[in-house]
Parts: sequence; structure tokens; C-alpha cells
Amino acid sequence: MAQIGYLRPLVHTPSDPVDYYARLDEQQIALNQHLGKTIRITFLNEKACCHCGQKIKKTYNHGYCYKCFIQLPENDLCIVKPELCHFHAGTCRDPQFGEHQCMQPHIVYLALSSDIKVGITRKSNMMKRWIDQGAVRAIPFLEVPDRKTAGEIEVHLSGFIKDKTNWRKMLKNETSGRDLMEARAELLDKLPAGFRSYLISEPELYEFRYPQLSVPEKVNSLSLDKEAEIHGKLIGMKAQYLIMDTGVFHVRKHTGYKIAFEL
Ligand SMILES: [Zn+2]
Repeated sequence: MAQIGYLRPLVHTPSDPVDYYARLDEQQIALNQHLGKTIRITFLNEKACCHCGQKIKKTYNHGYCYKCFIQLPENDLCIVKPELCHFHAGTCRDPQFGEHQCMQPHIVYLALSSDIKVGITRKSNMMKRWIDQGAVRAIPFLEVPDRKTAGEIEVHLSGFIKDKTNWRKMLKNETSGRDLMEARAELLDKLPAGFRSYLISEPELYEFRYPQLSVPEKVNSLSLDKEAEIHGKLIGMKAQYLIMDTGVFHVRKHTGYKIAFEL
């Protein structure tokens, strides 16, 4: 049966394995039970902004119209470069957003998705962030009062450890055997004295298992910009990807695309 609507990012809950849902507008479609079955995604030649609903030809920053891209605080440069947060200068695109999203406790974490990497997230968003990146293990490293401080620490630590995930390795389950607590111990020495008071002394280790029938041989990315119809046997979900025997489909990148989804 086909469901029709505008695609939204995958929704997930941190059970074991992670429970995944596709979202079309407000309707959620449970995916785990469809592993091993053929799915079909057909682009219906329409795109709409995920924020204001305006019909558009091209999406910006995964799902937005150009106006929302240049006006909304969630699309500002400081979201990808948090050390550039300018809330204190009084120039936040939306101070209320800044208050709720950025001037809140943040976590600097270490996570293993391909290699061990450093990253930051709002504390209340920790689990979602890790699953969105396909982390198999993660530990909170420091807890800081706001996003800017987290960004500054991340920039500093990225001189010693990766801050990016290799998505091909992540999807093929090719993860480094390195221990997170060991990496933490090594990074402790690199931490400037001014940041030490933020250290989480006995961090909990979080582990995630993803619904996967097998490790994909092909991790070529399937795009609705290249082909109007994508289909294949669903063999797994990880991060924001649907993994099929024909390739991998990054759902978030297609936010705002009107599709028919057949299970
Ligand atoms: Zn818009």
C-alpha cells in the first residue's frame, strides 16, 4: 500500500535495536517490521519547505525554502559552527530560539560511528543526536552551560581527534576497535585548564544496536534528484539512512520531497 506525503527525517526511539519510523507529513510508518521486504519510493515531482510549506523548486539545508534558509535561526552559520554563536552580541536571528536551543546545557561527547570522533549536542537531545549519526557507542565527556562553550571545546579537541564521520564506513559497520574510555583518558591531557571544571568524572557508556539484516555490499547513494523511483529490499536502518540491497537512501537530504512510499 502506498502512502503519500512530504518526506521528513527518520524518527527513532533508542530501544534495542533502535526502532525506526519513516515520516510523511504527520504520519509515521513503522519500519523495523518491514526489514527483508521490498520498498519503493517514488518522487511525485513536488517539493515544499518543511517550515513554511511554500512550494519550491529546490530545497536548502535539507528541506527549507530560500527565505527560511536565510532567516531562521536553525539555518544560521553558528549552528554548524557553534563557536561562532553571536547571541551575546544581541544579533541572534531569534533570541527566543537562542534561549531555548543554545543557552542550555550542552554535552561535548566522544562517539564511535566509524572512528572515534568528538561532537557536541544539547544535553536533552543527546540520544537523538547519537542515533542520527549512527554511533554504536558514545560517552558524554564534558557538560557546559551553553552551545558556544561546547563549540569552543570541540574546535580545540578537533586538533587531536576527528570531528567527522566517514559515512561509508559507518554504514558498512567498519568501526575502529579503539576504546572510548582510553580516548577520553588521552584527551584529558589536551584539555585547557579553563575547561576542566566541566569534566564529567564518571561518564556512562551508551551503546546502540541498529536494525540490520546484513552488512550492505553497496553503499552507493540513491537520490531522487537522479532517479524518480528508488526501490530495493530493505536490509537496515542506521543514522538517517534506509539501507537497501540496491544502495543507500539518505532520508534527511530528501526532506520536503513529495513521495509515494510503498511497503
Ligand atoms: Zn520556508
